[in-house]
Amino acid sequence: MRYNRQIPLIGEKGQKKLRSSLVAIVGLGGIGSPLALYLAEAGVNLHLIDGGIVSLSNLNRQILYSEEDIGLPKALVAEKEVRRRNREVEVKGFPHKLREDNIGELLEGADLVLDATDNFNTRYLINEFCVKNRIPFIYSAISGFYFATTFIVPGETPCLYCIFPNAKDEKDMLVIGTTPAYVSSIAATEAIKYLAGIEPSLKGILFIGDLSIMEFSKIRVKRDPNCPVCSSLNGSQS
Ligand SMILES: [Zn+2]
Repeated sequence: MRYNRQIPLIGEKGQKKLRSSLVAIVGLGGIGSPLALYLAEAGVNLHLIDGGIVSLSNLNRQILYSEEDIGLPKALVAEKEVRRRNREVEVKGFPHKLREDNIGELLEGADLVLDATDNFNTRYLINEFCVKNRIPFIYSAISGFYFATTFIVPGETPCLYCIFPNAKDEKDMLVIGTTPAYVSSIAATEAIKYLAGIEPSLKGILFIGDLSIMEFSKIRVKRDPNCPVCSSLNGSQS
């Protein structure tokens, strides 16, 4: 009954695949919050990773949390909230910042990684780990009214470093709550399609948009043959 409005779209087989999939969401802020909720409600098992604490200024976009959660670790509140929504899924919250020395443990067994972080140090770390272990991942980012997202399959599509070799983080980024909601809805849709066995639409395509004027573009991105992260990989998944 829980999934009967989606099973006709993805098939019984697709639903079974979702139920047996593990997705790691790195970052439980404006993008990670709706990602966790939509994937849990769709029946996906989750690792939820964030070392942060809920604060009042998070609440305009981080819809996993309420006023009474202020001061609590995001990953643990998120785990509880997801369990409250769908007790069928296996969910584990990790209240840690993703680092080189814990990434193996935190992303272990993931069929797909969702990058919902806010900094390129962590993003490059995820990229290197996913390329090395051939785990697909979805990059999503926002700034103000702008968003960008792409589906990365190591060895097949450009990796994050191919696309952004010199990215810098923005300080004190501004954000309207609906921008992360928008991009996370796209990323969650791509994740559900991929996990259910449906070809994702944003492989090798950077989808960007500006919600202040509702303009959207799809940019085809190419692998860098000299990329220090992924150039040694060839096309077929091992
Ligand atoms: Zn690359």
